[in-house]
Amino acid sequence: PAFPAYRGRFAPSPTGPLHFGSLVAAVGSYLEARSRNGEWLVRIENLDPSRELPGVSKEILNTLEILGMEWDGEVVYQNRRNEVYQAALSLLKGRNLIYPCVCSRKEIADSSIRGIDGPVYPGTCRYGLPGTERPQALRVRTDDRLIEIKDGLRGLIRQRLESDIGDFVLRRADGIFAYQLAVVVDDAEQGVTHVVRGEDLLNSTPRQVHLQQLLGYSTPAYMHLPVVVNTLGEKLSKQTLAPPVVTADPVSQLVMAMHFLGQKPPAELIESNIASFWKWAKKNWRSEMIP
Ligand code: GLU
Repeated sequence: PAFPAYRGRFAPSPTGPLHFGSLVAAVGSYLEARSRNGEWLVRIENLDPSRELPGVSKEILNTLEILGMEWDGEVVYQNRRNEVYQAALSLLKGRNLIYPCVCSRKEIADSSIRGIDGPVYPGTCRYGLPGTERPQALRVRTDDRLIEIKDGLRGLIRQRLESDIGDFVLRRADGIFAYQLAVVVDDAEQGVTHVVRGEDLLNSTPRQVHLQQLLGYSTPAYMHLPVVVNTLGEKLSKQTLAPPVVTADPVSQLVMAMHFLGQKPPAELIESNIASFWKWAKKNWRSEMIP
């Protein structure tokens, strides 16, 4: 099939129902895609069964439907794709780009300097494991070349992975594939051309670009949206007990998300129905107004 000019996606983790923060990411990615006649996919990021609440994936999809957000193609579930992730790991292994690691979080925290996103992995297991029976994670080797990303909203993002992040985990010691690996494999395999998501993932993007380069994938365009915080300044999430999106009045939720994204929906729109809301939104979406 011909590669589309624009294929976006929304990739919620089913750790809790859709809240206002995830709604903003959904609306932003949807309107970026639809205002350019692009496709929009939905992928359920349920790599970790211990964090997935039963019924939540269905509930999220149901909420998207009530909000009038239609996705293209079949929903992809990450927990059915272990073979695909394993194939990517094997490829990296064949080129000696990954290695087993037995360091605990605490050991790393104690022996490391702080980097851009937590402690920098000091490379303890890079040149061989200490004799131990501990379960092994798999890390990918990083280097210190400059990785630069031009973010659609945040401008130029630059990292040197080896000193800013360190070698990072692709498969956890409990056998679960890491988000960084799965997201890269899936975005590439699904032919995603544009990633629009929350700014909390901005710092992960250079890691993802590194993996794309190692695996021979192309790099999509990135746009990171402002993250919604509560009155304590915490990112809305299941951990901070963010309330679910109220589906009884979907248009008002959508209008709120538009305001958060710096758009200026007319006051009358709140009285209208879903169809007129989306008609207005697709026509008037301006990403340059996002704060
Ligand atoms: N599943 C991630 C989340 O819910 C989003 C991943 C992404 O958009 O790359 O935070």
